[in-house]
Amino acid sequence: MGNVRNHFGTVLVAVLYFGGAVFASAFVRLNGGFAMVWLSSAILAAWLIAADRRRWRAGIAACAVAHIVASGCFGIGWMIAPVLAAASIGEAIAAALLAQRIFKSTWTVATFTKIAVFALGIMIVIPLGSGLAAATVAHFAKGMAFGPGLQSWMLGHGVGLGAILPFGMTITSRMAALRGIVFDRRRDGDARSAPFAERHKAAIAVLIFATMVVVCVSVFLQDARWTLLVPLLFAVFAAIWVDALVATAMPLLVTTIAAPMSVAGLGPLASGLGAAGDRLEMALLYAGLVVCCSLPVVADRARRRLEVDRLSRSAAHFQAVSQRNDNLIDELRRAALTDPLTGLPNRRAFFDALHALGPDDEAACLAMIDLDHFKQVNDRFGHAAGDSVLAQFAEIARTSFRSSDVVARIGGEEFAVLLRNVPMDQACLVVQRLVDRLAATTMAIPTGTVCVTISSGIAVIGADANAAMSRADEALYAAKAAGRSRLAMAA
Ligand code: GH3
Ligand code: MG
Ligand code: MG
Repeated sequence: MGNVRNHFGTVLVAVLYFGGAVFASAFVRLNGGFAMVWLSSAILAAWLIAADRRRWRAGIAACAVAHIVASGCFGIGWMIAPVLAAASIGEAIAAALLAQRIFKSTWTVATFTKIAVFALGIMIVIPLGSGLAAATVAHFAKGMAFGPGLQSWMLGHGVGLGAILPFGMTITSRMAALRGIVFDRRRDGDARSAPFAERHKAAIAVLIFATMVVVCVSVFLQDARWTLLVPLLFAVFAAIWVDALVATAMPLLVTTIAAPMSVAGLGPLASGLGAAGDRLEMALLYAGLVVCCSLPVVADRARRRLEVDRLSRSAAHFQAVSQRNDNLIDELRRAALTDPLTGLPNRRAFFDALHALGPDDEAACLAMIDLDHFKQVNDRFGHAAGDSVLAQFAEIARTSFRSSDVVARIGGEEFAVLLRNVPMDQACLVVQRLVDRLAATTMAIPTGTVCVTISSGIAVIGADANAAMSRADEALYAAKAAGRSRLAMAA
């Protein structure tokens, strides 16, 4: 399958190259010398850039044959055809090597500097090199005038490369993206949330394309020179706003319309110029201008879009990280204030609540609770049974008070309750109920059942929470001393 595709590519590029060469040799050698419009080098260069290096040899050989046949049959003659083929193909290879050297992947995300070097290379330096060779050989072998020959070669080849190569490179990289070779960054996005321009890509492309055709044809159906600015500005507008593939097609479209209409004697570039060759030259210069104006803008826009894309992805990433950290901090805070065995607030949380009491909470009471003879539970039934008793007691205590009260485990088998907005006598009633409830409760443990009692000391909190704590502790001690399973009020 891959092999078939590779051969198909080689054949296709040779056929396109041949078509371009026949068109150039048969129709646009207007001043008797070299062809003034040369598309074939750009076609071959775009293919070379995208093709595997191992395919290069076959593609180059096929195009060389195509060139010689086209030049021999339709153009300048068989004798110097191999030289012209070598010059044109050398030009395509040089352009491909230059593009591969300057751009890592796609040219549409390059900097201004890279685009400037690229444009200078493909539109001036490379055509100058191949043109010098071709014009010299043509001069000595065919007696062709050197200067005009070099000029039409450079114009035809420079504008050909400039107008077609960026478009060709965009097409080949899009085809690679379609085949999944290059990762398409938008593929996994939700189509409905994509911006308007993304959703209506095809319609916008058609609209821009049609507008440019109408604009160009209108401009070249009349003579006012200032109107030449309109296609130029429209090409720059397309470079700024629309997809790179459509934007790079604009200079090509201008060339396709401006060149034949000018040759036919129509439009602002034809007026005052007698020879068809001169009119074509003007049209090509104009097309070159459009290329130079739009190329850097296309690349810069694409690069910016990619950067904005990257930035918004990393912003989303950092937002997610920050959210995770917030959750983690909440979790840690909760853990730092919770007793893991019973799930009740721990000593720290209890003291926080105690010290956070305001002047409005003066009618608050504090009960200290201690399990009686708890050491014996551990000693008789084991530590695990002790843990289970602690957890069961915690659940009973938790459900015995209002949700506005704070029930906490402040030590091994010691608990404390902060009762808000209750006078002492009511607080005593509630705690006494808990003492009685526990005395009547049998708890299940792995080896059977156990009954534990509690003692409690209770105090009004007043202005000094620490003093209230000490008084409640003393009362608890008194309750223990008085025989346990009871409640004592602080003095
Ligand atoms: P008293 O009636 O005088 O309070 O007697 P007591 O045995 O309850 O008091 P003591 O202070 O002598 O013993 C407390 C025991 O509580 C000792 C310790 O092993 C046990 N204990 C403390 N924390 C835990 C715990 O997390 N799990 C278990 N299973 N036991 C605990
Ligand atoms: Mg105890
Ligand atoms: Mg104790």
